[in-house]
Amino acid sequence: MRGLRRRNPGEYEFHQAVQEVAEWIIPFCHENQQYRKEQILERMTEPDRVVIFRVTWEDRHGNFRANRAWRVQFNNAIGPYKGGLRFHPSVTLSVLKFLGFEQVFKNSLTTLPMGGAKGGSNFNPKGKTDREVMRYCHSLMVELARHIGEDTDVPAGDIGVGTREISYMFGMYKRLANRFSGILTGKGLAFGGSLVRTEATGYGSVYFMREMLATRGDGIEGKTAVVSGSGNVATYTIEKLVELGAKVVTASDSGGFAYDPDGIDLEKLEWLKDLKFVRRGRIREYAEHFGCEFHKQRPPWSVPCDLAFPSATQNELSGEDAKTLLENGLIGICEGANMPTDLEGVHRFLKARILFGPAKAANAGGVAVSGLEQSQNALRMNWPRAEVNKRLEGIMGEIHRKCVEYGEDGGWINYVRGANIAGFVKVADAMLAYGAV
Ligand code: NDP
Repeated sequence: MRGLRRRNPGEYEFHQAVQEVAEWIIPFCHENQQYRKEQILERMTEPDRVVIFRVTWEDRHGNFRANRAWRVQFNNAIGPYKGGLRFHPSVTLSVLKFLGFEQVFKNSLTTLPMGGAKGGSNFNPKGKTDREVMRYCHSLMVELARHIGEDTDVPAGDIGVGTREISYMFGMYKRLANRFSGILTGKGLAFGGSLVRTEATGYGSVYFMREMLATRGDGIEGKTAVVSGSGNVATYTIEKLVELGAKVVTASDSGGFAYDPDGIDLEKLEWLKDLKFVRRGRIREYAEHFGCEFHKQRPPWSVPCDLAFPSATQNELSGEDAKTLLENGLIGICEGANMPTDLEGVHRFLKARILFGPAKAANAGGVAVSGLEQSQNALRMNWPRAEVNKRLEGIMGEIHRKCVEYGEDGGWINYVRGANIAGFVKVADAMLAYGAV
């Protein structure tokens, strides 16, 4: 870790992500010397390649603007690079390296042949017109197109990149390459997208929680749940929770959280989706419309619940928040977002031996259905909704099984250890087989 910090100064998110993994992988490598001898973990912390480029575009007032964009191609030992693109002012190389590193383990866990990558830009889509977003996406793709391909690297969406942005980028790629191929996932249904991709991360997170609860003979029905965020992951987490009989009492954005003690039902959820995805409004408006409490600039972790689903962004749940949730009787937590719990919070949850589904297992449903979208594109076929959903449920069940295999610890399952080791072994074995490449 000392060497990693020295080689990557100031990249605190990246240090944190590697530390979380190293805590479990270093002891495992001591027991399995072949990985240690060939320095597999050290090699895995160095990305294969990082591309950094300028994106110049014209805003609605006719001014030229310049942003920075990156693609971090982390590891392709088990398949072409795969991972989302994030548009947010907080995007830095450190954030993308943490996300890319995590993605390697997550993609390995899905059972599908996908390497790990992440990319994005410090562009802020908030407050921009559709035309500005279009011009930005087109300009970005003019450069990115050189570095991606269906057998090389297949990006997808993430924070700030949804169907609208993917569509603009796909259109430009198709024009530049004069080929129609599945080089992005999360596409519109009319041009190669997969059914259930939009819902996959949120649904998958709830399926993972269902698997964890089943190990204790328990289920989702009747539970009270707290969800953070109100984007793609959060809204479909809420949808599946409500369908399976839970009561969801919160949703949030970067302005604060709404507390709806009667529960967000499917009708209110439709209103919320329209607010966030069509009108691009704020969660405060949900609280005003339905006459419930709004807590400005605060995350929702003080609200008592059985189940928690942090589904907004990294480090949104601190050690103190973890303490509050545990004191209020938390049974289980599934990380819908990437690295939403800080290191102290993770340690508190593990110490309490509750059901703790870490991001690389719990939110792998999104990339798994992206992988299924690639398969459908390669086959030039579209599978029906029920088929994709069945495969998603199957994959989440298989990820859970692997976490149990490596995470069993005296009658309790340490999902963090299980997910890290299971994700590591497949990539490590491929790297061992290749020799020094
Ligand atoms: P969206 O952009 O659709 O939604 C993000 C949500 O998080 C919004 O409600 C946003 O609020 C909120 N948010 C963002 N930054 C902050 C912040 N600093 N503090 C509080 N709230 C914040 O993104 P997604 O739902 O796609 O992604 C959410 C998380 O899930 C990310 O960590 C992403 O990496 C992870 N993820 C996503 C997958 C996917 O398939 N989409 C797959 C796997 C993981 P606001 O509108 O105010 O910015």
